Amino acid sequence: MSTDAPALPASGPLTDARAQLAEAIAHLGVDAGTHRMLATSRREMAVSVPLRRDDGSIATYEGFRVQHNFSRGPAKGGLRFSTAVDLDEVRALAMWMSWKCALVDVPYGGAKGGVAIDPREHSAAELERVTRRYTSEILPIIGPEVDIPAPDIGTDERTMAWIMDTYSASVGHTVPGVVTGKPISLGGSLGRAMATSRGVAHVALMAMASRGVDPAGATAVVQGFGKVGRGAARLLAESGVRVQAVSDVDGAVWADGGLDIARLGEHVDETGSVAGFSGAEAIDASILVTLDVDVVVPAAVEGVITADNAADVKARIIVEGANGPTTNEADAILADMDVLIVPDILANAGGVIVSYFEWVQANQAYQWSEREVNERLEERMTRAWHDVVAYASAHDLSYRQAATALAVRRVIEAHELRGLYP
Ligand code: NAD
Repeated sequence: MSTDAPALPASGPLTDARAQLAEAIAHLGVDAGTHRMLATSRREMAVSVPLRRDDGSIATYEGFRVQHNFSRGPAKGGLRFSTAVDLDEVRALAMWMSWKCALVDVPYGGAKGGVAIDPREHSAAELERVTRRYTSEILPIIGPEVDIPAPDIGTDERTMAWIMDTYSASVGHTVPGVVTGKPISLGGSLGRAMATSRGVAHVALMAMASRGVDPAGATAVVQGFGKVGRGAARLLAESGVRVQAVSDVDGAVWADGGLDIARLGEHVDETGSVAGFSGAEAIDASILVTLDVDVVVPAAVEGVITADNAADVKARIIVEGANGPTTNEADAILADMDVLIVPDILANAGGVIVSYFEWVQANQAYQWSEREVNERLEERMTRAWHDVVAYASAHDLSYRQAATALAVRRVIEAHELRGLYP
């Protein structure tokens, strides 16, 4: 019996991801059977994660790991701790990871994981127990040659160390290659912590150059001041761009002359939030993406540029540090307004590129210098950028459509070369 792709929810990241795939399939002229195969995940695991809290009570959280595709190699993707996590979100993020890995030509398929928990509500000891329990639940489907988690929203290098230790304890020997984004002292790669931000800033500068925007004198806003947004804001500021506003889940701050990102970082380290930063004015976080700047960098969560606010966007360039920040409806509105969108699967691919370098270094038990990592990262980002620009211009597509089509074509090519088993 053939299985049709499950019915789409009315809206949300999975709806958008499947619609983007459908568009690429139509453009490439691919058969309906292959389309259905790519619209569904290869493997999904839903687990319940019981946690003994510090006060002795027991709480239970939903957890997921979704592996979208293995045609080009083992699955690869982040682990998210957020109350917004649900199975459809994880499915969408896993599909986008497949396209991202193919687009920047790293030998992986896509995966994603999540636990529906707010990490800010838990002690480090509780987070360690949740991480170890979740890891032990998904242990049968992860491994350095199967599926390799990495940090995402709400998780960090410490989380990766706990996953690596739990996995290693269970197989009886140390396996550094089971995760990426590890601490350097456990085999993490130099340059990994800043890799996603570095890639975002690098393509932002290429996008500005393509639109004739000089970074010196250009203005930008960055939504989200976490692992991606903070580094992107810093690197843009170092390139001469005036980063006028940033936001996080607690608020937003604005300074006409540009924020002092180093001082803002110190404030966040002390207080946990950008809110209350003395070197700037507090503004309404909901208007951040519509401020009158040259470049908007959404680097927080999905679905922040929507049909409701897209027409109010004044920037000429959007660089998607986050996954899925622009809904498909907003995408169409922004295309009509001639706003250049550097899509997530290109803009934030620096993380998975250096994750790949980390995995290679772990497998070789040999560490590269930070300069080597950064040079190879920029080389791959530049190549992917030129591939997308050339394909978009040859086929009259948006950069998102071009990037998705290129990536889907590469995944299909790998699938066809391997053939369908049995
Ligand atoms: P993070 O947890 O380190 O930071 C997230 C930031 O977003 C925090 O500052 C948080 O306060 C803020 N935030 C959350 N909800 C918000 C909202 N509604 N409005 C404004 N700010 C909000 O996470 P991260 O690793 O920086 O990930 C951010 C995005 O980048 C996610 O979409 C993630 O999937 C994507 N991404 C991350 C990596 C990586 O290497 N970490 C790689 C590729 C893509």
